[in-house]
Amino acid sequence: MKNKVSSYRRIVVKIGSSLLVEQASGLKHNWLRSLLEDIASLKKSGCDILVVSSGAIALGRNVLGLSTGILKLEENQAAAAVGQISLAGLFSSGLDRHGIRAGQILLTYGDTEERRRYLNARATVETLLELGAVPVINENDTVATGEIRYGDNDRLAARVATMMGADLLILLSDIDGLYNAPPADNPQASLIGDVPVITSKIEAMAGDAGTQLSRGGMKTKIIAARIATENGTAMVITSGKDNNPLKALEEGASHTYFHARENPRSARKKWIAGQLQTKGQITIDEGAIAALKNGKSLLPAGVAKLEGDFCRGDMISIATHAGIVIGQGVIAFDAEDASKIIGKRSADIEGILGYAGRSELVHRDDMILKEILADKDNA
Ligand code: GLU
Repeated sequence: MKNKVSSYRRIVVKIGSSLLVEQASGLKHNWLRSLLEDIASLKKSGCDILVVSSGAIALGRNVLGLSTGILKLEENQAAAAVGQISLAGLFSSGLDRHGIRAGQILLTYGDTEERRRYLNARATVETLLELGAVPVINENDTVATGEIRYGDNDRLAARVATMMGADLLILLSDIDGLYNAPPADNPQASLIGDVPVITSKIEAMAGDAGTQLSRGGMKTKIIAARIATENGTAMVITSGKDNNPLKALEEGASHTYFHARENPRSARKKWIAGQLQTKGQITIDEGAIAALKNGKSLLPAGVAKLEGDFCRGDMISIATHAGIVIGQGVIAFDAEDASKIIGKRSADIEGILGYAGRSELVHRDDMILKEILADKDNA
């Protein structure tokens, strides 16, 4: 990390459940007190701080006596309902000691993915920050279900960071960063300190593991890094195991730093990039890939195959013949009409469909390409 933590303007700090809650003894009060000291001191030096805290389920299951084994969805939701009250209360009373107000924000997937709700959530969080408060954010686990939930707070924190235009996202974890091999069974494994671009090699280093208390393993952290960095937010993974973890990072504790993309996207492109679910996939030919790299729109002529039952305005992924997803965007036609015009010249669209639609299938303003295209490791 080139710069000190305190030199960033707006920082999202994500706290993993296992840092905050011990399965046997419950909340780690001393640790939380030390973290809030760090937050208060960063606020004093002029940073906006947002907290994304896990721990509602872990706290609630202790209180409800649901301590062992894997919980059913309803039990998880009941645990979150009980635990979230304590979690928010602890941040509120803890920050109060430093004269700082906390505001609880519970988000569902739709709040960050649907444009109108996204804008609304953003306005509320922005207002809290303007008023000097610390937003304390979690997923609304009691109502979020199945496919329509984040399930892990790593990706949620990355979405919050890009939504709020943060310049740094810090994931406090039970490990001090990304290793080139799983450190638990590989004594030779070494920490990767600096990640200028997330290559496929980096993605492959992230195993799958998560602990019973926390949802994300390294894999969700790397997805989070992609969401954050492609939208102009740098990201750090560092250990939060010891007291005063932000102070330690400020003083040079070991970590992995993921560089933010240099030319951050417009607000609309940020929103497109952060969409996690797509309704279909289109496979494009070499010529179209070259055109997209040059900043052109995707024309029907360059499309070889369509999959999915999407409507005009839905998000679709864009893939190569080998099935590698290289980007995503908002499609300008329903699946039925799109299937009639693929491979055809734009000038023929009106004749085929009987109306003059857009000449592009996905307009360049409605599309983002992954940095993978510029990544030599993937060539
Ligand atoms: N939202 C969950 C909770 O507060 C945690 C998800 C995660 O561990 O990332 O308990």
